[in-house]
Amino acid sequence: MSKDLNELRDKIKEFNLERDWDKFHNVKDLINALASEVGELAECYRWLSEEEILKVHADPEKKKKVEEEMADVLIYLLIISYKTDIDLLDAISNKLEKNKLRYPIEKARSVHSNPLEGYKPQ
Ligand SMILES: [Mg+2]
Repeated sequence: MSKDLNELRDKIKEFNLERDWDKFHNVKDLINALASEVGELAECYRWLSEEEILKVHADPEKKKKVEEEMADVLIYLLIISYKTDIDLLDAISNKLEKNKLRYPIEKARSVHSNPLEGYKPQ
């Protein structure tokens, strides 16, 4: 998995270098582009019920649109990772370890939180 993601990052970097796009890729604008792509992904689900969402996932054409928006999000995140020299896989592994300490199973199992409401058992 890690090798695959790093290979993907390198392919994206090569793609951008071949097109001389690297000069446009400052971190601030990349984060704005990432946020835009997250918005496009969210747009795929806007106002849909859970039932309608299941239908989106069952429709190959609609699911393809979701796939493409998810890919755009990860592409921008991978560009940001090489522009900031942050190893995304290390960052994710470290964050997961931190989350394990923050949310021990015995306290966090079947509980979700909301910034306004705090923790709520389900
Ligand atoms: Mg897009």
